[in-house]
Amino acid sequence: MLYHSLKNHKNLVSFEDAVLRGLAPDGGLYIPVSIPVLDPKLIHNLSSYDIYTISMTVIKPYIGKSIPEEFIYNIIHDTLNFPFPLQKIHDNIHVLELFHGPTLAFKDVGAKFMAECLSFFSKKIGKDVTVLVATSGDTGGAVAKGFHKKSGIEVIILYPYNGISSLQKEQITSLGNNVLAIEIDGNFDDCQKMVKKAFLDEEIQKKYILTSANSINVARWLPQMFYYFLAYRQIIEDPIELIFSVPSGNFGNICAGIMAEKMGLPIKFFIASTNVNDTIPRFLKTEKYHPLPVKKTISNAMDISDPSNFSRIWHLYKKNMSQLRKKFFSYQFTDEETLDIIEMVWKEHKYMLDPHGAIGYLGLRQYLQTVKKTSASTAIFLETAHPIKFIDDMPYFLREKIIVPKGLETFLSEKRKKQKMSLSNDFNLFKDWLLERK
Ligand SMILES: *Cc1c(COP(=O)(O)O)cnc(C)c1O
Repeated sequence: MLYHSLKNHKNLVSFEDAVLRGLAPDGGLYIPVSIPVLDPKLIHNLSSYDIYTISMTVIKPYIGKSIPEEFIYNIIHDTLNFPFPLQKIHDNIHVLELFHGPTLAFKDVGAKFMAECLSFFSKKIGKDVTVLVATSGDTGGAVAKGFHKKSGIEVIILYPYNGISSLQKEQITSLGNNVLAIEIDGNFDDCQKMVKKAFLDEEIQKKYILTSANSINVARWLPQMFYYFLAYRQIIEDPIELIFSVPSGNFGNICAGIMAEKMGLPIKFFIASTNVNDTIPRFLKTEKYHPLPVKKTISNAMDISDPSNFSRIWHLYKKNMSQLRKKFFSYQFTDEETLDIIEMVWKEHKYMLDPHGAIGYLGLRQYLQTVKKTSASTAIFLETAHPIKFIDDMPYFLREKIIVPKGLETFLSEKRKKQKMSLSNDFNLFKDWLLERK
């Protein structure tokens, strides 16, 4: 498979180049030149295949000859080593739980998959690769865990001093070795700006092979297609009309779902559910793409107002509003609505949502109440994080009811020293540090 930049359809690169570069030199995101369609028989019989075979079939064409097949299979085996259960909550509403991985959020799959690909490429070219990433919380933890001790790769994570939860901070700073955590005296946007500047800086580029581990990187973005196939595999009755609601921030996850649909998965509608950072819901209403300053919410992994992956979605719908509207809905919800629904779903159905999953649930409900008034659909929302990760934002009466996952209990009981350095919000200091070390 070849990839081109969304800003230039002529320069084609391999999967390897797209992964090593992250973003195309012209600043565009990479997109595959075509989307293979899978055998409908395979999709119809999905439940008779194991998850590794399915995932292999889905991802293989996008990697092509860049990585040998046995190796891809091993990567998938190492990446999908925890469950992705689909559960019915009530009526036709189901939850796909994506938080059973090591850092308790769905980003574990993409981060691990990308780490393995990058490690392979680093060995192949015989050079060390540096992954530079800014995080508003969950990416940092997943990337730290996924890349920890991978030879040939070092990871530099910039996180805002005051912007992430204590558990997230613990996950980023406790590993050490090839994982460098830098606490920036600023907010997430400041971290993001420093990272972007570093990518454009010639002196830094001379010294490092730099790539990003955000969902702009195809090796982090594409494996998220697995979720939709793994959900479909668990549906027992033939769905008449399959709908997915995805809590969305940078829109990488939902965009992977759209790819899965284009590969032949019979998904009827997508619902992009957001918090009050509502650029996309407004875009669908007004046809104007107009990001506003980021607002802080309790679903902080989605506090993004200019979602990078929307350019991919727009491309996939041929930059055509009526095509987009046929398949794609988007709604926004406030923190108050989020807390209310967490409480209600707990009281009525004994299911505990986290603030992100709650937004996914709200999106489904809004769609079912306003657009589709019958229940003749199989409606699935993605639960992207475990509620323990956002315990400080959960309703008071629920906090003590959260069941701490086993692995986390051990993690929290261990005493570790925090391995991090602190920097003021000044690009030149960061640059000097990058150029002087080693
Ligand atoms: C990153 C994240 C999201 C948003 O995912 P995108 O792919 O950026 O849209 C949603 N929920 C949680 C818990 C996350 O960590």
